[in-house]
Amino acid sequence: MLDCIVIGAGPAGSASSTVLAQARRSVLCLEAEEFPRFHIGESMLPAAVRIWKRLGLWEKLQPLGFPYKGGADFVTADNKDIAHFWFGDWLEEDLKDAIQVDRAKFDKAAVDHARSCGADVRYGCRVTDVKLMNPGVEVTWRDPAGASHTGCAHALLDCSGIKSFMGKRLGLRRTIDSLTKFAVFAHYDDVKLPEGIREGIITVVCAADAWYWVIPLEIHGRHNRTSVGCVIDRKVRDHWRGEPADLLDHLIEASVHLRERMTRAKRVSPVRVEADYSNRCDPSHGESWSLVGDAAAFLDPIFSTGFCLSQRHAIISAEAIDGAIRKRGCVRAADFAGPSREFFQSVDTYTRFVRGFYERPAWLDCFMSPPVNQFNVRRAVVRVLAGDVHRVSFWLAVFFLFVRLQRWFPLVPRVSRPRVTDGLVSGGEGGRGVSGKAKAGFADAGTR
Ligand SMILES: Cc1cc2nc3c(=O)[nH]c(=O)nc-3n(C[C@H](O)[C@H](O)[C@H](O)COP(=O)(O)OP(=O)(O)OC[C@H]3O[C@@H](n4cnc5c(N)ncnc54)[C@H](O)[C@@H]3O)c2cc1C
Repeated sequence: MLDCIVIGAGPAGSASSTVLAQARRSVLCLEAEEFPRFHIGESMLPAAVRIWKRLGLWEKLQPLGFPYKGGADFVTADNKDIAHFWFGDWLEEDLKDAIQVDRAKFDKAAVDHARSCGADVRYGCRVTDVKLMNPGVEVTWRDPAGASHTGCAHALLDCSGIKSFMGKRLGLRRTIDSLTKFAVFAHYDDVKLPEGIREGIITVVCAADAWYWVIPLEIHGRHNRTSVGCVIDRKVRDHWRGEPADLLDHLIEASVHLRERMTRAKRVSPVRVEADYSNRCDPSHGESWSLVGDAAAFLDPIFSTGFCLSQRHAIISAEAIDGAIRKRGCVRAADFAGPSREFFQSVDTYTRFVRGFYERPAWLDCFMSPPVNQFNVRRAVVRVLAGDVHRVSFWLAVFFLFVRLQRWFPLVPRVSRPRVTDGLVSGGEGGRGVSGKAKAGFADAGTR
């Protein structure tokens, strides 16, 4: 009987496997795909660096040459308003640095590290069934040759990402309806980047009906490889007649900011899509098993939070398993209550930010405004952007008070909110109605 079986070797799976192996627990991590493989989720937060130091992974990332990210710019799609957030101006030493990562490279390095700590990570092994033994679990998987295997463990961590193997199986997953979004994205060479130390920052480009990301993944002198994507409402996808690549081109063209930065850019990857990803599972754990990271909940990626929250959740869940086995030789539902509470508290804090962005124009006014963002309010907001949500403060409450006041008594100038999807939705002048071919095109374009 193993101590733990982990489903999936993404950031949550590799982090939990590393922690368990470092505690000398027997851990088998089953990953359906062969690494390296593409995965979206490329902008990291400073809080993730703390996690990599805890895992002993940070040193191993240095030779991979990931770009330095010292902050984030939020700019409106028409280039009229911009807010710079530089972590080092506001936060303590260990929260001022982050990186951007090519996930194919990062995820493989994290698995190699887990293996070097003693975890048994197997690629090409898809979990097909789980039996709950109360306590303990029995897991069945298919290996790359198609043969079926079964193994038993004291605990199961389901780190299967948005697919949420156990969440779907047990019917625990709820889509967050008001956040049914659609992302379309690709990698480009030679996007125009900011200069100097700021060249590696993420730019979030805001519109009334969309937002974009620009994330440098590799920088070689004057050349770079950069991830560019756009998140829009799902109904726009449902009404778009063309291929995903045409949609992405159209959206880039619709933003002055993107247009200016991409005059010399060349697309170097397929255009991929991801839809309806905001969801949460309730409950997220039970006797001897827990959903971890995206498998438990996933929120809109505007604040680049998914990776960091997933790894933190993975670490504390793995520590809970180690503690429980040491104490009583088995793992109970109650052992996952603390990790789950901490994870969902963080998700809830970010949910306030995400809902603010989508649902309240006053939120963006305050977020981007220097007068509202004086001193401690600014520090509290930057702390959230850095991924340090455990010390959510009085000053964050003051920020939300400003947002509430701004709705009724404009305290700061309104930020421009240009629209970029007008004309895409059918029914309007020049609208592009849906076709069977278009739907097939979208169905073909998966991210993983
Ligand atoms: C459009 C978009 C943009 C994003 N941008 C960012 C960003 O900039 N920054 C950020 O921090 N986050 C971002 N995210 C979120 C980020 O991608 C995830 O939060 C992160 O990858 C979660 O890690 P995970 O380990 O929980 O899941 P995953 O990384 O999805 O890993 C799950 C693994 O489980 C495997 N698996 C699934 N089912 C099985 C099975 N049955 N058997 C075996 N293996 C299985 C999969 O192959 C996969 O490798 C973004 C997400 C989206 C949708």
